Amino acid sequence: MDKKDMKLTIGHLYPDLLNLYGDRGNIACMMKRCAWRGIEARTVEFNTGDEIDFQDLDIVLLGGGSDREQRIVCKNLLAIQEKFKEYVEDNGVVIAVCGGYQLLGKYYKTEEGTIEGLDLVDIYTEQGEGRLIDNIVLESSVCDMPVVGFENHGGRTFINDNTPFGRVLYGAGNDGESGYEGVIYKNVIGTYLHGPLLPKNPEICDWLIQRALERRYGCAELESLDDSREKAANEYIYNRFVKQ
Ligand code: GLN
Repeated sequence: MDKKDMKLTIGHLYPDLLNLYGDRGNIACMMKRCAWRGIEARTVEFNTGDEIDFQDLDIVLLGGGSDREQRIVCKNLLAIQEKFKEYVEDNGVVIAVCGGYQLLGKYYKTEEGTIEGLDLVDIYTEQGEGRLIDNIVLESSVCDMPVVGFENHGGRTFINDNTPFGRVLYGAGNDGESGYEGVIYKNVIGTYLHGPLLPKNPEICDWLIQRALERRYGCAELESLDDSREKAANEYIYNRFVKQ
């Protein structure tokens, strides 16, 4: 199938509440990397209370939020849980960041009570002593380049027997102790890496696009783009925090 005939729909869930640190930049990155390849992409925003038809969606972004915002969003999530679960089990692509990552799991236990999660992935989160705030660098099976980002979370996430998104080379990761960060389940990536995760790590962006095209159209060869600037920025961070 010609790339020109391929269309992708990105669903941005709850940008009215889950929008910390410019998670929206991840949408801009997916849109741009599709456009550069002649793949038609559109983004549909769903605010709390909106009906969501997951059959129309190819990639879902769930951003980060404060505990307070997560508590508000939680009520809406339970209404869409069943359809969202079907989407995930049908290999729907999801990128969930920080607060959104925590909400993929069974629950997030805080001092002010327990926030029920979507239970899409068998993980759970508990608030720990102090916040884990720092730059972070990972190695991940999803990409050749190291994954670079920033984390800021009070919750500690436990992923049971699931596959982590990456191994921590610098930073805290899921719980500050396991040495692992995030989770991968089917075509879902959950991660604590905030804000411009995809612009900083274009291979992850392409992984999401590729998986979405394969699911919708059966196959997809993504042509490579000139990522020399992204690679230089990535190398700078790697050298600064990891390389001795
Ligand atoms: N409220 C969650 C925590 O503090 C997630 C924060 C975030 O999305 N940055 O752990």
